[in-house]
Amino acid sequence: MALEEYAAKRRFRDTPEPPPKVNKSKARANYFCVQRHDATRLHYDFRLEIGGVLKSWAVPKGPSLDPSVRHFAAHVEDHPIDYGGFEGNIPAGNYGAGSVMLWDRGTFELLGEAGGDEQLARGDIKFRLHGEKLNGDFALVHMKGRGKGNEWLIIKKRDEFATPGWDVEAYAYSVLSGRTQEEIAQNLPARKAKRKAAGATDRVWESDREPKQGPGARGRGTGRTASSPGPRTLAPGPHTALKKKPTPRP
Ligand code: MN
Repeated sequence: MALEEYAAKRRFRDTPEPPPKVNKSKARANYFCVQRHDATRLHYDFRLEIGGVLKSWAVPKGPSLDPSVRHFAAHVEDHPIDYGGFEGNIPAGNYGAGSVMLWDRGTFELLGEAGGDEQLARGDIKFRLHGEKLNGDFALVHMKGRGKGNEWLIIKKRDEFATPGWDVEAYAYSVLSGRTQEEIAQNLPARKAKRKAAGATDRVWESDREPKQGPGARGRGTGRTASSPGPRTLAPGPHTALKKKPTPRP
């Protein structure tokens, strides 16, 4: 499928999203990206470059490195390759209105002999991600004979990147600009310091957003504390501060 549905849903004079354009070049690597999209409902858009377009799934709970979770993924319309670099705000009144964060990006390898279109048609795509946040082997599996026919699951396979209890909300920043969803929604400039994922440093960023009183409070970008080189797993507790808050719309 080309980009007719993508084009039909959008008015390109009103939205900063890229116009429909199928990439005919064979030279590209297999690009993948995930966008965190604060639309009517917060969700993650998972995209794989197959056949000159970005095959796309809307994942309400987001992807996970925890192999024990199977998150629902709604197969949605193909997007142009250029969409893979998009971050910004879709104005009110337009399809998908709300802020779009480039949450992860990188390349993927298809696993197995079959090509991407063939695996897609089969309803079972296996691939290895090389992203900034997501790595390792995954599958997207079509749940045949269900509902509208667009219902898939995204599943992490067990490998060295599998992380039980992995929390997508601990990574709620842009790989393009370092911004939070709220900062994108407010059109604030990109952060100078590139963010790194996970662990104690996330709590430092968290303190940016939820100013705390007392000696525990830190300013933006002060980095990790001396005692923080610890494990990648996150302690339970303050992640609730990273959960989605209502965002005023333009
Ligand atoms: Mn979306």
